[in-house]
Amino acid sequence: MTEFPHLLAPLDLGHVTLPNRVLMGSMHTGLEETGDWNRVATFYAERAAGEVALMVTGGMAPNREGGVFAGAAGLFTDRDIANHRIVTGRVHDAGGRIAMQILHAGRYAYSPECVAPSALKSPISPFAPRALDAQGIEKQIADIVTAAARAREAGYDGVEVMGSEGYFLNQFLVTHTNRREDDWGGSYANRMRLPVEVVRRVRAAVGPDFIIIYRISLIDLIPDGSSWPEVVELARAIEGAGASILNTGIGWHEARVPTIATSVPRRAFAWVTKKLMGEVTIPIITSNRINTPEVAEAVLAEGCADMVSMARPFLADAQFVAKARTGRAAQIAPCIACNQACLDHTFSGKLTSCLVNPRACHETELVIAPAATPLSVGVVGAGPAGLAAALTAAARGHRVTLYDKAAEVGGQLNLAKQVPGKEEFHGLTAYFATMVAAAGITLRLGVAVGEDDLASHDTVIIATGVLPRDPAIPGQDLPHVRSYIDVLRGAPVGPRVAVIGAGGIGFDVAEYLVTGESPTESLHDWLAEWGVADPDEARGGLAPAGPQPAAPLRQVTLLQRKAEKLGRRLGKTTGWIHRAALQMKGVEMIGGVNYDRIDADGLHVSFGEGHENPRLIAADTIVLCAGQVPARRLADALIARGRAVYVIGGADVAAELDAKRAIDQGTRVAAAL
Ligand code: NAP
Ligand code: SF4
Repeated sequence: MTEFPHLLAPLDLGHVTLPNRVLMGSMHTGLEETGDWNRVATFYAERAAGEVALMVTGGMAPNREGGVFAGAAGLFTDRDIANHRIVTGRVHDAGGRIAMQILHAGRYAYSPECVAPSALKSPISPFAPRALDAQGIEKQIADIVTAAARAREAGYDGVEVMGSEGYFLNQFLVTHTNRREDDWGGSYANRMRLPVEVVRRVRAAVGPDFIIIYRISLIDLIPDGSSWPEVVELARAIEGAGASILNTGIGWHEARVPTIATSVPRRAFAWVTKKLMGEVTIPIITSNRINTPEVAEAVLAEGCADMVSMARPFLADAQFVAKARTGRAAQIAPCIACNQACLDHTFSGKLTSCLVNPRACHETELVIAPAATPLSVGVVGAGPAGLAAALTAAARGHRVTLYDKAAEVGGQLNLAKQVPGKEEFHGLTAYFATMVAAAGITLRLGVAVGEDDLASHDTVIIATGVLPRDPAIPGQDLPHVRSYIDVLRGAPVGPRVAVIGAGGIGFDVAEYLVTGESPTESLHDWLAEWGVADPDEARGGLAPAGPQPAAPLRQVTLLQRKAEKLGRRLGKTTGWIHRAALQMKGVEMIGGVNYDRIDADGLHVSFGEGHENPRLIAADTIVLCAGQVPARRLADALIARGRAVYVIGGADVAAELDAKRAIDQGTRVAAAL
C-alpha cells in the first residue's frame, strides 16, 4: 500500500495511459542552445528513469519572431528534427514520455522583431511589438501548427501549447494587450479566437493519437485580466477544439505578485484550479509551489486537480517519483523555490542548474562515479559545503566522518530557517540529516575539532564557514548593538532598529524584524498581503483594494554604504519581491551612507567624502549585517603543519558566499577525490 495513492494512480488519456499523476512542467534550461543534444537527452532521460509520467520540454519557438530571445531553440529545419529525435529516443528507452512545448512569446520576445495583437510595449521588455495584420496572424497560426507536426515527426508524445503567463496567445485574450477591432479583438468571442483556432488546427495536423496540452491562464494577476466566466468559456472551447489536457498557469510575467518564489505558500493557487474542476471533462493539471509528494497527494486527494505539475522539483531530484513510490520520500532533495540556480541563471543567460543539486543540467559533466580507492575522509563543518562534500564522497564509497561544533547539521541554513518566508530551509536541513544517516556517514556533532583529531584521515576537507565581518564602527561595542546571528537566534530587539548592511542577510534580518506571523504559513494572510482575490470577484484576481499588508512589528531602517539602489544585487528574479515586501512594511532604505558612530541615541550617519548632511537614525537596537570573512583558523593551522587540505565554501571565499556556491564546490571537490 503506497502513501500516495492519488499521486501514483494511472491516468487514462484514451490512446495512452500515464502511469501516475505527475507532470514535469516546462523549464527553460538553456541546454538546447548549447547544441550538445547528448547533454539535453541525458537531462531528460535521467528524469524519465525517475518515473515521472510525462515531461514537457522548455519552450520551443515556432518561428524567429516568436522566440523568447534571439537564437532561442525551436524546430525549424530537418536537422532540428534529427536533434530532437536524440532526446525523444533516449526518453522512450528510459520508459518515459515527453511533450514539446510550443512557446510563442509575442510581446515578451526579447527582440525588436517581436509581434503582438497590438503595438503595446510590455513593462518588462525594452521592445515595442509590431501589431500583426490578419495575414500576419495566419502566419503565426501556420507556424505553430507546423511546429506541432514537426514535434510529432521528431518522436514526441505530444505538445504543450503555451497559452498562459502573458505570452502571445494570452495577449490576445485580454483588453490589457489586445486593442484590435477586427475578428481577433473586441468581443471575448473574438479575443479567444486565436488560441481556440490554434488548438483546432494543431489537432487536425497531428491526428487523434497525440497528446495536446493547453496551458491556460487561470488568474492573470494583471489589471484588466480575464474574468472567471471568460476563463471557463475558454477552457470549454479549448476542450472542444481537441485538447487532451488543460495545464494551468498563474500570473503573467509582468504581474507584481510573486507566484513561485519561496515566500509563496505551498500549493498557494491549487484553490484556483479547483474552481475549474467539473467545468470540462478533460484532465486538469495544477501547479505552483508544490514540491513534496505529501503536498501533491493532498492537492489531488482534495479534488483540486487530476494531475500535478512540478518543474523545479525535478531539477532538485530526478528520482522524485521513484523515491515517493518506494517509500523514500524523506530522501527526495527538496526544491526550496529559491530560483538562485535555475531562473536567476536563465535570466542572466547562464545554463540552469539547481542549488541543492549541482548535477542538474550538468549530468554529463559532473559525474559521481565509484572511487577507485576508498579513502578515509574527514570533513570539518556540516554547513552546505561540508554536507555536499560528505554526501558526495560517501556516495562514491569513501569512509566519511563529518564533524561540526554545533549540535545539528546545516550551519547557516539553520539561521535562514528563522526568516519569515524561508520556511523551506526546514525541509532542506531535514533532508540533509536524513541523507547523512542513510549514507552511513559517521557524524560527530558538538565537537570542536583540533589539528590532531584529523591525523587519521587520508583526506581532510575544511568547510568551517564564515565569521561576521568587523565593520569597525565607533560605538559598536555598546550593549544595544547586536550581530545578525544573535538576532536570528532570538536576542531581544527594541521597537526602532537600524540594520547595517543590505546584502542578502540585511534584507533577511529586516524582514524578520518587521514580520509577525509569517504570511507564508497562512494562505489567507498571504493572499491579502499581496492583494490576490478570487477571480470570480475581481478580474484577473487582483483585489480592488490592492495589497493589505499586516502592520510592521517594528520601525526598521536598512542601510548600506554603496550609493546604489538597495537590493540591486539580490536574486535577479526574487530581489523585487524582497524590496516590495520591505516597502510594504514601511522599511526606510538608505544608500550611500558613512557610519560615523553609534551612541545611546542610535546610529549617526553622513553622506559623501566630506561627511555631509549628518543624520541620526534613532534606534533602540543596531544590527550588524556587514558581510562575512572566512573562518580559516583550522585550515591555516593544518597547512602550516604541511598537511594538504581542501578548503571549501565560506572558509575558502566568504565574499558573496551563498549556499549555491558552497554546495556546488563541495560536490565538485568530493567528486574529484
Ligand atoms: P553580502 O551580500 O556580501 O552583504 C554585505 C553587506 O555588508 C553589504 O550590504 C555591504 O554593503 C555591507 N558591508 C560590507 N563591508 C562592510 C563594512 N566594512 N562595514 C559596513 N558594511 C559593510 O553579505 P551578507 O548579506 O552577509 O550575505 C552573505 C551571502 O549570503 C550573500 O552573498 C548572499 O548571497 C547570501 N544570502 C543570500 C540570501 C538570499 O536570499 N539569496 C539571503 C541571505 C544571504 P556596503 O559595502 O555598500 O556597505
Ligand atoms: Fe528549486 Fe532553488 Fe533548485 Fe531552482 S535552484 S530548482 S528553486 S532549489
